[in-house]
Amino acid sequence: MRDLPPRAGHTFPGRETPLIDREPDGSARPHTPGTPTFMRAGGRNLLGSEPELLRRCQLSSTSSLESPLSPSQSKSPWSRFDPYDSIEDQDKEYVGFATLPNQVHRKSVKKGFAFTLMVAGESGLGKSTLINSLFLTDLYKDRKMLNAEERITQTVEMTKHTIGIEEKGVKLKLTIVDTPGFGDAVNNTESWRSVVDYIDQQFEQYFRDESGLNRKNIQDNRVHCCLYFISPYGHGLRPVDVEFMKALHEKVNIVPVLAKADCLTPRELTRKKIKIREEIETFGIKIYQFPECDSDEDEEFRLQEQELKDSIPFAVVGSNILVESKGRRFRGRMYPWGVVEVENPAHSDFLKLRNMLVRTHMQDLKDVTRETHYENYRAQCIQDMTRMVVRERKRRSISWVFSGLNLNCMKLSLNIETHPELYHCSDTSI
Ligand code: GDP
Repeated sequence: MRDLPPRAGHTFPGRETPLIDREPDGSARPHTPGTPTFMRAGGRNLLGSEPELLRRCQLSSTSSLESPLSPSQSKSPWSRFDPYDSIEDQDKEYVGFATLPNQVHRKSVKKGFAFTLMVAGESGLGKSTLINSLFLTDLYKDRKMLNAEERITQTVEMTKHTIGIEEKGVKLKLTIVDTPGFGDAVNNTESWRSVVDYIDQQFEQYFRDESGLNRKNIQDNRVHCCLYFISPYGHGLRPVDVEFMKALHEKVNIVPVLAKADCLTPRELTRKKIKIREEIETFGIKIYQFPECDSDEDEEFRLQEQELKDSIPFAVVGSNILVESKGRRFRGRMYPWGVVEVENPAHSDFLKLRNMLVRTHMQDLKDVTRETHYENYRAQCIQDMTRMVVRERKRRSISWVFSGLNLNCMKLSLNIETHPELYHCSDTSI
């Protein structure tokens, strides 16, 4: 059996430090088996010496018998998130489990979050610019730009950039997977293959780790979302777009974006969006579906969700420079005829996309990856493995039958040699 790592508050057979029970006066006596022992890690006992603590415990237990304290009356570690922290709760008695979500919150914040985003689409559509604008970073400092000749012969390769971002004490490990070379060759048939392989490899790695011994520290590199960039210059989807999305839609959450939306007039933009949505439907492409609203959800939330659905494909504008106009500084693109503001909802869906990815649906994207895409991969793997085992068993049982037959033949020939009279036929002997 594998050893479980020791944790504060638990001891494991063969690993115990000698146990001592303390008398209320502070003197020690050997531990009596059967007495529950709760140990805290040394460094965490910040409240005082044990006799002192025991004295405090006795005091508090006496007082709690006299007047039961509700969690709302005790000093709360949850400060402004305390669910019992309201005037009307002061006189009520509670068990305290409404703080469970807070416990989960604290634990997750301590652990930090990880998110893997893939960007795909032909080069020059503004993928790097958009990623830098979305996460206010410069992820592509060392990017090598290829010339036309190199691009024609280049195969699709996968690159990965990871950065740690922290905001208000919450840490996010963000991984961006890029697909340089996708759609750049003269013949783009099956240019989605490397992307599919990459996604499968991450699933496979996770499946191995999950079935291995050290499951506690699994590195999750599964791709949670793929932003697929559609060119603003075509008439809707191109064959390569359809092929790519169809090859990937069962493996990753695809969010289509209409690149460089500032190249289109509002009318062109609306038409293009409608056309792309129709084509997605016609070709049976399953893009990421926003979860249905619960019946108890308020109207504002419903409207917001509907607006998100209607925005598909998100028409985006990216920029890594701050421009100044009318006394304001903002991320934007300056043209002779005016300024495009990246974060202005009248100019692009950039904010909607960022809010969706980060503020409202990041967890859902991860859940769908885990519960649907990875689960499908896992089920397929297990099915394949079972089939292989059955085939192997059949093969072995057939070879056992043959080896059994061989053995019988050998016995038979031995018998013939030793007792030829037994095998005598009427006219011919064997
Ligand atoms: P990538 O190859 O897809 O990563 O594209 P880049 O981010 O390198 O952008 C290619 C070119 O398009 C650069 O000159 C960018 O400044 C420009 N660009 C990026 N985003 C936009 C946009 O939203 N609108 C317009 N008009 N140009 C953009």
